[in-house]
This record gives sequence, C-alpha cells and structure tokens, in this order.
Amino acid sequence: MSDQSCFIIIGAGHAGGRAAQAMRKAGYEGRIVLIGEEGFPPYERPPLSKELLCGDSGLEKAQLHDPAWYDENSIELRLNAHATAIDRESRTVTLADGETISYDKLLLTTGARVRRLPIPGADLDGVFYIRDFNDTQGLRARLAPGTRAVVIGGGFIGLETAASALKRGASVVVLEASDRLMGRSIAPEVASWFAGLHRERGVDLRLGAAIAAIEGDGKVERVVMADGEAIDADVVVIGIGIVPNVELAEAAGLEVDNGIVVDDHGRTSDPDIFAAGDVANQPNAFTGRRLRLESYQNAQDQAQAAARNMCGGDEAYEDSLWVWSDQHDVNLQMTGVADAWDELVWRGDVEGGCFAVFYLKDGKIIAVNTVNNGREMRPCQRLMQSGKRFDPAALADPEVKLLRLAKE
Ligand SMILES: Cc1cc2nc3c(=O)[nH]c(=O)nc-3n(C[C@H](O)[C@H](O)[C@H](O)COP(=O)(O)OP(=O)(O)OC[C@H]3O[C@@H](n4cnc5c(N)ncnc54)[C@H](O)[C@@H]3O)c2cc1C
Repeated sequence: MSDQSCFIIIGAGHAGGRAAQAMRKAGYEGRIVLIGEEGFPPYERPPLSKELLCGDSGLEKAQLHDPAWYDENSIELRLNAHATAIDRESRTVTLADGETISYDKLLLTTGARVRRLPIPGADLDGVFYIRDFNDTQGLRARLAPGTRAVVIGGGFIGLETAASALKRGASVVVLEASDRLMGRSIAPEVASWFAGLHRERGVDLRLGAAIAAIEGDGKVERVVMADGEAIDADVVVIGIGIVPNVELAEAAGLEVDNGIVVDDHGRTSDPDIFAAGDVANQPNAFTGRRLRLESYQNAQDQAQAAARNMCGGDEAYEDSLWVWSDQHDVNLQMTGVADAWDELVWRGDVEGGCFAVFYLKDGKIIAVNTVNNGREMRPCQRLMQSGKRFDPAALADPEVKLLRLAKE
C-alpha cells in the first residue's frame, strides 16, 4: 500500500483503537482515519460497570492510548463523528456533517448498542442502560447510600452493576426473567452458586420475575410486576443484552447475519472491507461454528489480526473464547462455549469460593469456568484446546497438576 493510500476505521471503540495501533505497528504509512461517534478517544468498557461505577474517577485509566498518541502516530481521530453511509463503488464513507472521505481499505468496528426494554415507563428519568462512559457517569451520580436501585437483567452487566451499586451504599433488587443467572453462559449449577453469593452480599435477587411497567410521575418511583406487586425504586438499570450495529454494512450490501459476516481473516463479503469486535460474526474452528463474540479479548485480538491482514498479512484468526466478569470480590473467568455438555466436573474449594468447573462432552472439555481461581485458567485452556479426552477424576483431583495432564 502506498503512502498516499487511506484506511478508514468506523467505530472508535476498543477494536477500532487497537486496530489503528496494529496498522502502524505493521508498518502502514498511509493515512488512517478513525471515526467515532462518542466524544471520547477509544477506551475499555469493562470498568464501566466495575471500578468506574464504584469509584468517581474519569476515563484516564481506561483509555487505550494517551491523547497525544493519536497525533504522534498520525491517526486522524474524528470524535463526535457519525458515519452515515458507505459507497462501495466510489469507495467513500460519508459522515453526518456531509464530509466524504475516500478509502482504499475500510474496517468496521461499530460494536453494539444496548437492547431496549419495550415496557411502559422505560423512558422515565432515572432509567439507565450501561454501554458508554456517559451512562456510567449518569448512573453513579444517582447512586448514594439509601438509593433504591432495581436492576433488570441478571446477566454479567446487570450483576456487576448490582455489586457496584451495593458498594456505593444503594439497596439493590435484581429482577431476572428466567430461572437462573447468566443464562446462556454458564451451567445452572454454577449460576446457582452465584445466586447464593449475591444474596449473601445483600442483593434481593428475584428469579422468574415478570415485569409489567416502570412507573413514576416524571421520574422513576417504582417497578410494577405482572402480578401487581410494586417495588419502590429511585433508579432502574436495564441490562438485557446488546444488538450489533450492522445497519451501515447492511445498507452497503455486505453480508449480515447476526453481525457482519467475516472470514477467518476478518474480511467481509467485500475483499476491501473488514470487520472486527462485537459486530463481527466469525468462524471458530474449535467449536466448528460461527460466533459473534462480545468480549474484550476478541475485540482486541480480532481487530489487530484484521488490521495486519489489511496491511498485507495473511493471518487466520482463532479466538481464544475467553471472557471474565467481576461481581463483588469474585472473579469469574470462562473459556469455551458452555452448551451441550454431558458432565460437569468440579475442582477445588467450592464452599470457600476458589474452584474450577469443567464442562465435558464425551470426555472432551468444551468449556471451563474458574471462580477466584484465575491462575488455573491458562492450563485449563490448554487442556480444552488439546481436544483430548480426560479422566474426570483426574480433573477433579486438586493434587493432580493440570499442566501435567496437558503434557500427557
Ligand atoms: C459495561 C460493560 C462491561 C463489560 N465488561 C466486560 C468484561 O468484564 N469482560 C469482557 O471480556 N468484556 C466485557 N465487556 C465487553 C467489551 O467491552 C466489548 O466486547 C468491547 O468493548 C467491544 O469492543 P468493540 O470495539 O467491538 O465495540 P464497542 O466497544 O461497542 O465500540 C464501537 C464504537 O463504535 C461507535 N460507532 C458505532 N457506529 C458508528 C458509526 N456509524 N459512526 C461512528 N461511530 C460508530 C460506537 O459509538 C462505539 O464507540 C463489557 C462491556 C460493557 C458495556
């Protein structure tokens, strides 16, 4: 690629910020335009429901790069800039202010937006979602000792938010529609351990909760359940999942199916357009199927791999399927995809809260959770990726070193 060429990245989030860095690292000397509709340079989102919600600090520690880094690396960072169209014929991107920029290659890292809850009162003052730093700032300003917070959704974001709200002195009710927490990600038995944790820490956790409406006179005052019960509330936080931002790609005629469809090089159905991060639906050899991953590690690693491929590389990306969540003082790490297992094997001190859970299918590990036991995650990943069959008794025995099993 010549120095006169231009790479455009749409979406200045984690994936976009890391991709720009990887392009320069790969030696690309042309123009890089990084377009983001938020008012902040790229930052990491995990602290939004954790440290930044518990504490009062700004984004400094969560930023991917120092503000000066963009100029130093000749990255044209356009903030508060919304890309409205891609014209594949003229190879241009149009911004909301009418500016049109030509590209040689384009990377879409448009991420995802929150799924909205379609019930009466969901637009009242005091109802929050958490996706960006403005959301976190708005919510934490309302959380104080005595605040009555109701969290709708018992997934990662909802549960992390519940723990953080509790730390700020609020009382917290969590309403989860299904009969367990973190439904699609972990086994019911592990979810039940976490339900015990939240209750023990003081969260009023209600499973199987059917919500009818949020009510109040101009602002949130209560959440009304389908059976008529009213739960008093000062703030309501909704965490019921995300929706990938595929509209630009779809309008440009790119293949879209639960995300922008890419190959293992991050390439879309147009060879000059790539996609990565939460918005990308990618092949995964370990599971043998396509996945759209919503994780920090994927946003970072897939974007960097796609960026290198845009710079002439020829690198197949395979995600490590690793994700974590921090709830209260408990660190949960997950690898693999926890579905269709036929046996769960527990290892370690479950009661004391330091253990691992293996998900076995026909003796092979398809997923692992570690709870306050992150040091065993890497060996667990090695065992899982090996595709070998393991003796459940050996996995469960804390005297058996996992690395030894990996080498056998
Ligand atoms: C509160 C919270 C906590 C999390 N905690 C964890 C965790 O503990 N562990 C973990 O593994 N993962 C966690 N995640 C997930 C992780 O942060 C995401 O997977 C990651 O941020 C995805 O990065 P991305 O760059 O693909 O998308 P995003 O972070 O969504 O960034 C996309 C960016 O593109 C912008 N954009 C979209 N469309 C346009 C357009 N047309 N024009 C201009 N800009 C546009 C968006 O505004 C956004 O800034 C968490 C996420 C959240 C929200």
